[in-house]
Amino acid sequence: MAFFSGLKKIFSPARTAREESTGKIEPGEKVRGRPRVHVLATGGTIAGRLVSTGPRYRAGVLGVEALLDAVPALRGLADYSGEQVANIGSQDMDDDLWLKLARRVNELLDGQYTDGIVITHGTDTLEETACFLDLTVRTPKPVVLVGAIRPAGALGADGAVNLLDAVSVAANPGSAGRGVLVVMHGSLFEARDITKVSTSGFPAFAAPNSGPLGQLVDGRVYYGQRAGLSPKRPFFDVSRLDKLPPVGIVYGHSGVSDAPVKALVEAGCRGIVSAGVGSGNLHHDVLAALANASSRGVVVVRASRVPSGLTLRNMEVDDNRYGFVAAGMLNPQKARVLLQLVLTRTRKPEEVQRMFDGY
Ligand code: ASP
Repeated sequence: MAFFSGLKKIFSPARTAREESTGKIEPGEKVRGRPRVHVLATGGTIAGRLVSTGPRYRAGVLGVEALLDAVPALRGLADYSGEQVANIGSQDMDDDLWLKLARRVNELLDGQYTDGIVITHGTDTLEETACFLDLTVRTPKPVVLVGAIRPAGALGADGAVNLLDAVSVAANPGSAGRGVLVVMHGSLFEARDITKVSTSGFPAFAAPNSGPLGQLVDGRVYYGQRAGLSPKRPFFDVSRLDKLPPVGIVYGHSGVSDAPVKALVEAGCRGIVSAGVGSGNLHHDVLAALANASSRGVVVVRASRVPSGLTLRNMEVDDNRYGFVAAGMLNPQKARVLLQLVLTRTRKPEEVQRMFDGY
């Protein structure tokens, strides 16, 4: 796989008169005291292009330099550099790339030469990568994910304005200490609550429980008021990990079967997240299969397939009795991310619950 093969391929090898006027810099260069933003490109529709045969467009085609060149207004916001980390549709995002991305972001921000990072990403799994980085990157400096739902060349393509907004957030000192952020369609969100809410329309993202953290107008960010991040927020150092524990998701519906739960246990999953109905409720067959899994040391987290609201302990399900964990505000896909990380430390449901409660 070509992931990270582009790590050394950072453009703008030498500073030129043209670059003075474009804002493009070599990573690490300090110019005129302006903020230095480094853009890590991973693919997605924001790097997509229309094609004439087969599907309407292909994600992950344009390189980082083309993305940046398409937004000349960036030069008014920051000095910036770019790096191609991957060029994939985010439906192909995986643990390996997450771990590499977390290491790279930590490495860049631990150094003194980068003030903020923007990560361009496909929208399909953007929320999961944002959540993963939120839990594995320790820095007050801004880390901002951004995508687009229309490829370059499409009517109403949203990539350029979203990228401009994302760089504006990453360059803004007011963005510090807010955890990993996501910018889409004029709104700014925290990683924890954001989720994709439309496959095709604008706005494609929302934070159903907490709402947006701020708004963007003409490339300027306006923050709303918000209490700071929880001091109990867990952090996971993944610098020495080359694998994450396998965790699967089972989806609830009428007439559901317990077969997926059994299959995940059989496949060696160390944790299972249930995307249950209502407040994370479980059909009695699924409840029995999950109780059995839990008694065999598989950590079971109850989340809900409902887009907003909380999944709290011991509502209709006796979590104490079965040793289950309640996902709280996290949707199933983010509960899975957190559970993968928590399982690198503990399998004890009470401790797992504490970490879920702290996020
Ligand atoms: N499949 C694309 C992706 O997630 C969709 C998008 O970016 O909007 O990479």
